[in-house]
Amino acid sequence: MAQPRAPRSGSVAPSTARSDPTAASASPSLPQGRVSLHTPLTAAIGERQAAAFARAFGYQSAGDLLSHYPRRYAHRGELTALADLPAGEDVTIVAEVKRCESRPMRQRRGSILEVTISDGTGVLSLTFFNQAWRANELIPGRRGIFAGKVNRYKGSLQLTHPDYELFDDDGMGAPGTDVEAWQSHPIPIYPATSTLPSWKIARVVREVVPRLGTVDDPVPQHVAKERGLETFADALRGIHVPTSDTDWRRARDTLRYQEAFVLQAALLQERERLRETAATARMPVPGGYAARFDSQLTFELTDDQRAVGEQIAHDLAQPVPMNRLVQGEVGSGKTVVALRAMLQVADNGGQSAFLAPTEVLASQHLRSIVAALGPDLSAELMPTLITGRLTAAERKKALLRSVSGQAQIVVGTHALLGENVSFFDLGLVVVDEQHRFGVEQRDVLRGKASSPPHQLVLTATPIPRTVAMTVFGDLDVSTIAQLPAGRQRIESFVVPLAEHPRWEQRIWERASEEIAAGHQVFVVCPAISPKEVEEDDLGEPPDDTDADRQAKPVVTVEQTIAAVRANPLLAGARVAALHGRMPADEKDSVMRAFAAGAIDLVVATTVIEVGVDVPNASAMIVLDADRFGVSQLHQLRGRVGRGSVAGLCLFVTTAEAGTLARERVEAVAATLDGFALAEADLDLRREGDVLGSNQSGGRSSLRLLRVARDGDLIETARADAASVLENDGGLQRHRALASAIADRLTDRSRDFLARA
Ligand code: ADP
Ligand code: MG
Repeated sequence: MAQPRAPRSGSVAPSTARSDPTAASASPSLPQGRVSLHTPLTAAIGERQAAAFARAFGYQSAGDLLSHYPRRYAHRGELTALADLPAGEDVTIVAEVKRCESRPMRQRRGSILEVTISDGTGVLSLTFFNQAWRANELIPGRRGIFAGKVNRYKGSLQLTHPDYELFDDDGMGAPGTDVEAWQSHPIPIYPATSTLPSWKIARVVREVVPRLGTVDDPVPQHVAKERGLETFADALRGIHVPTSDTDWRRARDTLRYQEAFVLQAALLQERERLRETAATARMPVPGGYAARFDSQLTFELTDDQRAVGEQIAHDLAQPVPMNRLVQGEVGSGKTVVALRAMLQVADNGGQSAFLAPTEVLASQHLRSIVAALGPDLSAELMPTLITGRLTAAERKKALLRSVSGQAQIVVGTHALLGENVSFFDLGLVVVDEQHRFGVEQRDVLRGKASSPPHQLVLTATPIPRTVAMTVFGDLDVSTIAQLPAGRQRIESFVVPLAEHPRWEQRIWERASEEIAAGHQVFVVCPAISPKEVEEDDLGEPPDDTDADRQAKPVVTVEQTIAAVRANPLLAGARVAALHGRMPADEKDSVMRAFAAGAIDLVVATTVIEVGVDVPNASAMIVLDADRFGVSQLHQLRGRVGRGSVAGLCLFVTTAEAGTLARERVEAVAATLDGFALAEADLDLRREGDVLGSNQSGGRSSLRLLRVARDGDLIETARADAASVLENDGGLQRHRALASAIADRLTDRSRDFLARA
């Protein structure tokens, strides 16, 4: 029975169908004249409405408004009855709100709004986290269309954060409405806010679209023709007021291509611009520091390290700034590669700044740089640490070394960006773990050099090619795919407590076995305490609204360390906690003690995620693994199996089989290949989450483009953009494209990952 009670014809009509008497009478109050994309929003839709859109989305122009594309389309014709809802599928339901209740969450801050809807054939509950305001519109008695994915929670079916569109309260007929057309036209569902629900947005957009005059198309005609695109104006009509699915699909394809094209053109231009600025060339110097370092290396560089090293050596020798991203698995030896680059710069009298995301990592980097250089080179190059917690005297000394140029290598955290840190001749900026730093922060550091320094960005998060192209389209990308020889295997297992609660004890048995064998164990929890769920988590937690997961208590460091201490299996083991709320020196001393083998088991948050190198650590136990993202899990796993000791990784989860959360964990356990995982991650993530971008609008998000899916399109668009720029670098003959790029510049598109 796929056709439940559609709204009684004429008695209930959606507000988008101009049936709302207030809507109908509101239209004359809107300005009526022609609009262009640059028409100020106030002129296009009136002060009051414009203010609402400015507040909600920051929109200023008619173009901003029209680039607020529907997120999906609902169909009145294909409704599902509540009586036979298929779990796990996307459904659209016409129903009435029966009950609406908000309550605080039990285990964490925030509220849950539970709404019961019914269509007469059955009932269904809707769940919203931290969106209590929806109670203002989801009033019992109101009817509407609800769309989302059906999930099962505690045995009953529900929709979590569904899209919905409410019909008008008064339910009066829709005079003059073509019922047939109304029945068949797709209903656009817009990204909405509390003040601007989808139907209000739809109403305003529908007023504006017909008034649209000629629209300059950023995609040149010959390209549009070759790619089979509609005109921009037609595409805007098709996406906002489609009369059929074909309409919006065509429109979407055109706009998606356009988005990729403008983005790539912007990135390519930026890349050219960077290349036009002058930098100091830092040639390799025979017999210099770099050569001495190479000759004292105790291991052979891998082929990848060598090849990437050559690319960098070549870049540094150019009189234009290097802008290179080096991606490589945890433990693939990126630090060595970066160090060799710093030495080449030092050979030319230049300094290097090495920026690390945390104090722990900055001091670890300094220690390992000093160790790798050995006493002689260290004495000559004076690697120096600048962090926020130096004593006044230490700080003064460090700053002096930096400004005098004595310190050829300065390692630090954000403190390096501080106003009173200056350099004598800053030649290279190395940024470790790129996505922790924003573009702006790198720019600050760049500003500390007299000419633009070369720049090397290191990331252990493998970036799929298409993401690299989209987010770092202005950087050159090198990859270290190999791990140094002699690395031990890491075995990964999922421990599914949902099905096998007894296995919990087995986890601690394994931990005690590792400790008995003289090895060390990491235990990672998603939170410090029940109240500090969000803590200083360095990574990006998976952004899914899985009701199951949100409602469950989170496993914490506090509770786990207590349980470990009380566990007879681990009696006698030396254990410690490590998390971001601990004073920095305490953190540091725990980390040092662990590295020195004086602690057997450390219960930590993700503060240990990046960079920490403890070769004797053999086991990584991630509790509540489903609360971490794919790349976080992979990075955590990279903490073990680093020395000659084989690694064991247990991903402990209570997520049920078949849930997205569980799949994510299983995907990580299934492969050690970070690049394959990054691709799998893209597939597993829901639309739009890839770049951590905010899909609810705002000028800086990718709108229709999904790097997960649109790799080929992005590549095509990049090639097309390159050929346009090749013939018209200044875009003199492509003014619409130039202005679209200018509009984009306010976006911080390159900064998506940086903000993650
Ligand atoms: P990454 O920064 O990529 O995680 P590191 O540069 O910290 O990796 O290297 C991890 C460890 O491997 C370090 O102890 C380093 O000295 C060592 N290492 C680096 N390159 C090699 C190599 N080619 N052969 C053996 N060991 C290496
Ligand atoms: Mg490293």
